[in-house]
Amino acid sequence: MNANQVDLVGVVGAGTMGNGIAHVFALAGIDVILVDAVPEALERARSSIEKNLGRQLAKSRIDAAEARAALERVQTETDVEALARASLVVEAVPESRDLKLEIFGRLDELCESSAVLASNTSSISITELAGAVSRPGRFIGMHFMNPVPVMQLVEVIRGLETDDATTELTLALCERVGKTPVEVNDFAGFVSNRILMPMINEAVFCLLEGVAEPQAIDTVMKLGMNHPMGPLSLADLIGLDTCLFIMQVLHRDLGDDKYRPCPLLAKYVAAGRLGRKSGRGFFEYADA
Ligand code: NAD
Repeated sequence: MNANQVDLVGVVGAGTMGNGIAHVFALAGIDVILVDAVPEALERARSSIEKNLGRQLAKSRIDAAEARAALERVQTETDVEALARASLVVEAVPESRDLKLEIFGRLDELCESSAVLASNTSSISITELAGAVSRPGRFIGMHFMNPVPVMQLVEVIRGLETDDATTELTLALCERVGKTPVEVNDFAGFVSNRILMPMINEAVFCLLEGVAEPQAIDTVMKLGMNHPMGPLSLADLIGLDTCLFIMQVLHRDLGDDKYRPCPLLAKYVAAGRLGRKSGRGFFEYADA
């Protein structure tokens, strides 16, 4: 199978990432079955896809016929059983090792042996997740960035057993859907979060130690380093719970205290200050 022969993709998890992943495959002309255990999540995902296609239409990036066709290509289901015929399944359920292992165990039983199984995990070892399947050669990481329809990068992560054909297929498929893939090996946090999260964590240490106020920390990084967003605003966008989880994975799996999560980050998460999604993190959000 080559990338042009992929005609049906399954996406498991229709949240922030899953609806965007379904969007980009459908827009590239590939049929998509989007699965979520929660029916309301599927309804929300469909309206997000419609809204985001509308934005692309308003910017003349696509025409009305393309937007309509893309939406029609997305079928929604509440059970992974619907994915038996998919050539590729991308998993985008919450960042829980046990949940992902359970889902991949089921997918391995029901999908054809030639199908590629991919995870959108931000930090969990691809090699470890591949341990749940009888086809570790056909298992790979496809780490899309948020928001998926807008962001160019897909970090493609090879597990220890991922074979060359699967890697080549995945890289070519990313290009077919208009993304730029970058191949990396399987280490905690891969490249993206191994570099980004310690920077965010260090910004939180700056706040904890009174080096500067939140706004000042972000302004230094925006105006001084030309970052489009300051690290504390970015942490609020990603979710402080997600940031803490990734730092814990880096700390545990790489075994180096330089990845120690900042206690202030843990304190904010314990207090429910999770960033934009809870209305308050390092900054306050009236529209949450
Ligand atoms: P999310 O919480 O927005 O969505 C997860 C969806 O999975 C929910 O709709 C939930 O109902 C569904 N789900 C839960 N259990 C399920 C099951 N058993 N079967 C089917 N569906 C189930 O999460 P998200 O932010 O989209 O993250 C998904 C994955 O992508 C995580 O591994 C995360 O680390 C990774 N990721 C997230 C971001 C980000 O910025 N949010 C960026 C890159 C990667």
